[in-house]
Amino acid sequence: MLQDMRQHELPICPACGELGRPNTLDHYLPKDVYPHFCVTPVNLFPMCDACQLAKGTKVGDARFPRFFIHPYFDVFVAERVVYLKIEAPFEAPAFSLEIADHLEQADAGLVRKHIRELAIHLRYATYFRNQYRRLLRLTSAMRNSGQDIRQTLETFRVGAAEPSLNAWEHVFYASVLENDDLIDYLCTAQLPSLL
Ligand SMILES: [Zn+2]
Repeated sequence: MLQDMRQHELPICPACGELGRPNTLDHYLPKDVYPHFCVTPVNLFPMCDACQLAKGTKVGDARFPRFFIHPYFDVFVAERVVYLKIEAPFEAPAFSLEIADHLEQADAGLVRKHIRELAIHLRYATYFRNQYRRLLRLTSAMRNSGQDIRQTLETFRVGAAEPSLNAWEHVFYASVLENDDLIDYLCTAQLPSLL
């Protein structure tokens, strides 16, 4: 079982959604504190190095008994749990990672804590800035070749929905498509020339 888990073929980290095969197995309940759960399969899942370093031996505190989403038991993560707020001016927008509106209060609180304790919002920031520059370049090329921008971005979104709706690329394209002001900007505004 452990061998199978180590040989998994997951293409993203289930804790943060970053692309790349996570190469460590994390103990949801740290083995130093809960040694009796150290080989319990549901206590183990793949995690990327950045998440594992940030998680360390943290579990929760008096106010939040549980900091982290459990990828097997917290089934609400099958849906997208975050969106990227992209605010004008769209030549140089402000980005912030927000919790999806449809989540129940307790689940939203857990997602917020999970993101903060794993410092996911800081790692997202660079990715989204680069992805946004790429979006402007691609949009420019689509306009030059007469492609329908919303439709083409929708095919990018669908393509990024595998393996998870919480994969960073999917969060990005879904959030772009939900932002009517941004779509309007992409379709009609003069796009910055130096990207
Ligand atoms: Zn991760």
